[in-house]
Amino acid sequence: MDGLMQNVPLTVDRIIDHAAAWHGAREVVSRDADGHVSRSSYAAIHADARRVSNALAAAGIAPGDRIATMGWNSGRHLAAWYGAAGMGVVLHTLNPRLFLEQIAYIANHAGDRLLIADPSTADLVAQLLPQVPSIERVIFFCDGPSLPHTDYPAIAFDDWITDEPAEFAWGGFDENAACGLCYTSGTTGNPKGVLYSHRSNYLHALMTLQRDALALSARDTVLLVVPMYHANAWGVVYSAPAVGAKLVLPGQRMDGESIYNLIEQEGVTYSAAVPTVWQMLLQYVQENGKRFTTLERVTIGGSACPESIIRTFRDEYGVDVIQGWGMTETSPLGTVSVPNAVVAAQPADEQMAYKLKQGRLLCGLEMKLVDDAGVRLPHDGRTPGRLMVKGPTIASAYFGGEGGDVLDAEGFFDTGDVATIDGEGYMHITDRAKDVVKSGGEWISSIEIENIAMGHPAVANAAVVGIAHPKWDERPILLCQLLPGARADGDDLRAWLDGRIARWWMPDDVLFVDEIPLGPTGKIDKKAIRAGLTGYTLPFEVTR
Ligand code: ADP
Repeated sequence: MDGLMQNVPLTVDRIIDHAAAWHGAREVVSRDADGHVSRSSYAAIHADARRVSNALAAAGIAPGDRIATMGWNSGRHLAAWYGAAGMGVVLHTLNPRLFLEQIAYIANHAGDRLLIADPSTADLVAQLLPQVPSIERVIFFCDGPSLPHTDYPAIAFDDWITDEPAEFAWGGFDENAACGLCYTSGTTGNPKGVLYSHRSNYLHALMTLQRDALALSARDTVLLVVPMYHANAWGVVYSAPAVGAKLVLPGQRMDGESIYNLIEQEGVTYSAAVPTVWQMLLQYVQENGKRFTTLERVTIGGSACPESIIRTFRDEYGVDVIQGWGMTETSPLGTVSVPNAVVAAQPADEQMAYKLKQGRLLCGLEMKLVDDAGVRLPHDGRTPGRLMVKGPTIASAYFGGEGGDVLDAEGFFDTGDVATIDGEGYMHITDRAKDVVKSGGEWISSIEIENIAMGHPAVANAAVVGIAHPKWDERPILLCQLLPGARADGDDLRAWLDGRIARWWMPDDVLFVDEIPLGPTGKIDKKAIRAGLTGYTLPFEVTR
């Protein structure tokens, strides 16, 4: 027997409709590359989004077609996002920080018909166009006077939509229709397209709004530092308008000073970003003796959050850091590290051990650990296994069938992460399966050594990779980037690690580098590190 409730399709146009109707005056603030701040509102973004739909329809773009954006976080980008989604067009976000070849590969793979790009990428677009014949039209996220001079035809976003009507009949399609396309950043292989549906994005927004997740409210001012092209913008593009939070979109500038000024000027209460952004921000705030007057909490994810960041935010600035785990394929949020009742009853210092874990599962998802043969492993907080997840916000396949069948017999998706799960249900990532260091048949957690090394007062960033070893298969070595002006040598680092990690985890060598290579989303690029270490041999034979 069917229930007798209205079967309203969960399509994301309803989210911006709701924001415009009930939080219409709530501000959407954008900062340009030159620092200029412009103010819009959910009502105005909603009207512009409908103009975008009309402009797309006029260009012959139909539901199911892919159009690409290559821009920083801005109100125009948000209008394009909803203008495409509302009419059933698939918005494909391109990361302008990728190499030309990668962007061309991705845009060709997606079959993008139209490109809306930031004016700063005009030269890149010139190189891209001959390589991506499917792109019929280029629009730049700017007003008429700011349109860059190009050898190819292009139009300013504002001119493109200005004469279009602010009315368009959105929706009317199935909630399982494709909504957005985002490629994995490629740090772990060729980029693959994750194709979100309206339903998955809608549900993800509701899931992340729980008090034990991102907990956004109408009273929040949200600074979306996470780029809109990175992992579905962590869903904040949906969750902030869903609750009518004021949204601050920072544009291209991510240095500590720019982010700090925006936080203070706009009264930001909540923000989300990868650890490197917070590291830069904290460094600026500490060096310049600044305080946060409105910031209450930040979500950190994308890579493991060093303890030093959590402690500094908490102890010096009264800001709560919440670690989240997820991936492009999981919409992205999967787990969040907030205290459950048992953990909340513990003293603050004991709670820290849980804050450093990636956290507990959101309602609606399932997770399990398995060994290489797919056999389930215990949730004892000690046994590492491959982390598998399942649910309505998890990818079932990649765009174009890339990578083949990605689910196991029970319908779980292999995250490629290696993790433990403890008795309280906290998941803890110990490695990427590809980055795991296997020594004498046992796994050494590169992430744990990195986190501890980063706790050393002289260390700005650290990376551990495995080096082939005749006896132990692999041994770990540690690469350190020191803070400006700081000094430390290999013995200092070994002394720091001694007693904090198992003896057989001790890196066989410590190398100091000017800069740990980071990938396009700010994560340590182990592929680049391994390439840089070609020909490197371990300095001495180890015994265990
Ligand atoms: P890519 O794998 O291309 O970097 P994503 O940006 O989707 O693509 O990254 C997902 C991966 O990032 C996860 O599988 C996990 O390895 C890592 N990750 C995300 N959040 C965390 C976290 N809080 N702690 C440790 N690793 C994380």
